[in-house]
Amino acid sequence: MSQDSIAYVAIGSNIAPFRQITRCLDLLHGIPASGVCAESSWYRTRPWGIETQPDFINLVVGLRTRLSPLGLLRETQGIEVKLKRRRGPKNGPRTIDLDILLFDQLILKESHLQVPHPGLLLRDFMLTPLIEIAPDAVHPEHGLPVSQLAGEIRYRQIIDRSPPAAARDH
Ligand code: ADP
Ligand code: MG
Repeated sequence: MSQDSIAYVAIGSNIAPFRQITRCLDLLHGIPASGVCAESSWYRTRPWGIETQPDFINLVVGLRTRLSPLGLLRETQGIEVKLKRRRGPKNGPRTIDLDILLFDQLILKESHLQVPHPGLLLRDFMLTPLIEIAPDAVHPEHGLPVSQLAGEIRYRQIIDRSPPAAARDH
């Protein structure tokens, strides 16, 4: 039996997002004892919370990993630091945000790590890309595949998928 876990990680950026996400994906490919096994489309989304800020790019990647959940969190936070994320206002602009959505069937309620991510079902920019790459992934608290949980979405922020090249950073 394989000892690998499958984790899904949401990525978001609204400061030079194309450049930041490209660098972020490179760094994700370099996480030890892990491999990127799926990558969703890139979604352009309206900002959530503070609305007077640039649109976001959001996507979700699947990772096969032998790291623990905390080990993976350390790696994703390391990527945030490398990409010079500064903690600003909650829901404010960010160069990069990495959130662990699911980690196998684990349910963790620690303050520093909650999985499934509490926003997963509520936010279309988390759930829609996850359904795109892993429709059969089971949400451990609902016991249902995520593809059957789209009715739970409360915040619809997605504008479009795979934005045109003209919208990219200069
Ligand atoms: P948000 O993602 O809500 O905009 P942050 O990225 O600043 O906010 O996250 C703040 C804290 O959330 C981090 O210090 C981290 O320990 C904690 N956290 C809890 N659950 C998770 C998760 N599933 N993925 C990533 N961070 C998480
Ligand atoms: Mg975060």
